[in-house]
Amino acid sequence: MRQLIAGNWKMNGMSVQAEALAGALAASAPLPCDLLVCPPFTQIARVADRLRGTAIAWGAQDCHAAPSGAHTGDISAPMLADLGCSAVILGHSERRQNHHETDAQVREKAIAAAAAGLLAIICVGETEQQRDAGQEIAVVGHQIAASLPDGFAGVIAYEPIWAIGTGRTPTIGEVEAVHAHIRAALIARLGAPGASLRILYGGSVKPDNAAALLAVAEVGGALVGGASLSAESFLGIGKKAVLF
Ligand code: PEP
Repeated sequence: MRQLIAGNWKMNGMSVQAEALAGALAASAPLPCDLLVCPPFTQIARVADRLRGTAIAWGAQDCHAAPSGAHTGDISAPMLADLGCSAVILGHSERRQNHHETDAQVREKAIAAAAAGLLAIICVGETEQQRDAGQEIAVVGHQIAASLPDGFAGVIAYEPIWAIGTGRTPTIGEVEAVHAHIRAALIARLGAPGASLRILYGGSVKPDNAAALLAVAEVGGALVGGASLSAESFLGIGKKAVLF
């Protein structure tokens, strides 16, 4: 299976930058992986116009659990599908922390995403304090059990919170250990289909550490924050992708 390299632009990108970045990606040579970019809501239509007809997909960074209604400031999954989005990131640690999103809310959003035909990328990961206390497996296991709806057919992104935007990464052995546990948890939760869902690693992935991280067993790709804001570094990560 091809790995998925997904870019999370977060709250970055005015029109000029989004146009330039999407344009550079659209002009790039095909890579041996699936590429996805998730711009802020305000730039999705612009990015879609640039990427339509290329092999690069676009998505969003969140959605509401309801299809429409009185939810000021929110965006629904059908609205994203209407813009040609094929995926949505859910339960990113910045939303869990800054917007107090719970596992139950993430699960409801994942149901909405699937109903709209979107691939849900559910993020899980431990804080530094939890890692120091040796609780990463328990924390991630609980998030998987509580955030995934029955029949989940999306993607999991393992993102240790202390590695996001810090330039720090777990060791290869630490990534391997958590991914192996996530695989076991997916099979326990979903049965046989859990064996083939992609599990991304996220947290300070850069072109110079991508080869090592993408070669780890059960790593099905990467969720990339900072390095997805430059076509050169995002594509530089994609070039390190392997079949798994
Ligand atoms: C992220 O926020 O999903 C992320 C992985 O960020 P960064 O690559 O900047 O650590």
